[in-house]
Parts: sequence; C-alpha cells; structure tokens
Amino acid sequence: MKAIDTHAHLVKSYYQDNLEDIIEKSLNELEYVFNIGTDLNSIEEILNLNKKYKKLIPVLGIHPYDVKELDQNKAKWLKKTIIENKEKIKAIGEIGLDYSRNIKLTEKIIQKKWFIFQLKLADELNLPVVIHGRDAYEDIYEIILKFPNLNYLIHSFTGEKKILLQFLKLKNLMISVNGILTFKNANQVKENAKIIPLEKILFETDCPYLTPVPFRGKKNYPFYLKYVLEEFAKMKNIELNKLIDITNKNAKKFYQI
Ligand SMILES: [Zn+2]
Repeated sequence: MKAIDTHAHLVKSYYQDNLEDIIEKSLNELEYVFNIGTDLNSIEEILNLNKKYKKLIPVLGIHPYDVKELDQNKAKWLKKTIIENKEKIKAIGEIGLDYSRNIKLTEKIIQKKWFIFQLKLADELNLPVVIHGRDAYEDIYEIILKFPNLNYLIHSFTGEKKILLQFLKLKNLMISVNGILTFKNANQVKENAKIIPLEKILFETDCPYLTPVPFRGKKNYPFYLKYVLEEFAKMKNIELNKLIDITNKNAKKFYQI
C-alpha cells in the first residue's frame, strides 16, 4: 500500500538537477506528496511542478523565518496568487511562529502579524492550515483559538506533553510526525507520538530535513517515509498496512482530496 508524504520541500534549491528524478521516484512509491511552500521564491516553482506532476500537491504560505521578506505589495501578490490557484492548492502553509533562534520581541511581533494575515486568508478561502510552531506552541494555541472555523495540522510537533494535550482537545486539529521519531534521543517526541489518537495523526518527511534513521545526517527524500511509518507501527504494535490505511484517510480528510 502506498503512503502519503504530507509535508515535503521538493524544490530545486534543495535537490538541484536531481529534482525531477526524485519527484518521479517519490511519486512511484507514494500516493501523494504535498509540496510545502516556505518563501516567495518557491511559490511559482511549486505551482509549475504541479502542472507536470498532478500528485505533487501544492500548499502555499510563508514560513515564520521568511515573513521578514513580506511588505504590503508582496503580501498582495501572495494573496492574489493563492486566490487564483485556490483549486490547486490544498492548504495554506507552512505558516506560524518560530522562537527557536532566540529572537527579539520585534521579530515576534512581525511573525505574529504575518501569521494572522495568512490565517485570515485561509479563513476567507476556507482552506486548511499547516502550522510550523517550533518553541512557540503557547502563542500558536492562543492565536488559533481566534480562528475556530479553520482546520489545522501542526507539523513536526516538538513541544511538551502539556501543550500537546491542549491541542488534542481541539476537534479541528491534527498532528504530523516525521523522522525525529526514529532518533535515539528523541524521547519526548516518542512519548508524544504514543498519545496522539490514531484518527488525528499524519506522517511526513519534511525533506530535505529531519532524515530518519538509518540515513540520519544525510539528505532526506519522500520515499524515506517508510522508516518513520515502520517505527511508529512497531511502537504502537499495529500492522504497517493498517497504519498506512488509517493515516492516508486522515491526510485525505485534512487536505480534502
Ligand atoms: Zn517544512
């Protein structure tokens, strides 16, 4: 059974001339790959790739590291591009907050401003939202409560159990798990993964980052998703195909495909 990589970054800046070979190999082995935007540069590329590869599905948004490139005009262009391609893109993302680089208060304010701008856009267009919230989960929680009609996917959750339990109480929220699950020292992520109900869990690679064991430290690809799924199936003592079936349904429900 073919799985779904719900979060990948298949763009030329990471894979250079191998990009199309990697996409083809990935789409042979997986049912769908969601290609997640992070900055203005990647947006047209991601849309163009979808013209050729229908199962490489665009998700567009500006990552909290990259929102500093936005101004009123660029934000207008972003909004226009997303509206024009509303039928092709299946979510807004990845958007959110990231406080892991010990950032200043002024940067936090900028991140919040553009996060809220993109949430409003998702709300207007009735699109689900893929969230990046590293080291900022409390603020993310507070902000998303103000947009109760949206559906959320918290990608690569690395927070504490307490905030995870708060998130899991929200009916309109799912969590995705990636290669960190296979890391030897990732006890918190492993413990968290065990308490996410099966109907709320999705899997992703976040390639080229977060490569699972046995390839940790090298470049990541969507077709390494199996190592994450195998680890989780072993942890929860579920048959692999059954796990793929359940999480594919979750992914299709979230992205509405
Ligand atoms: Zn990502």
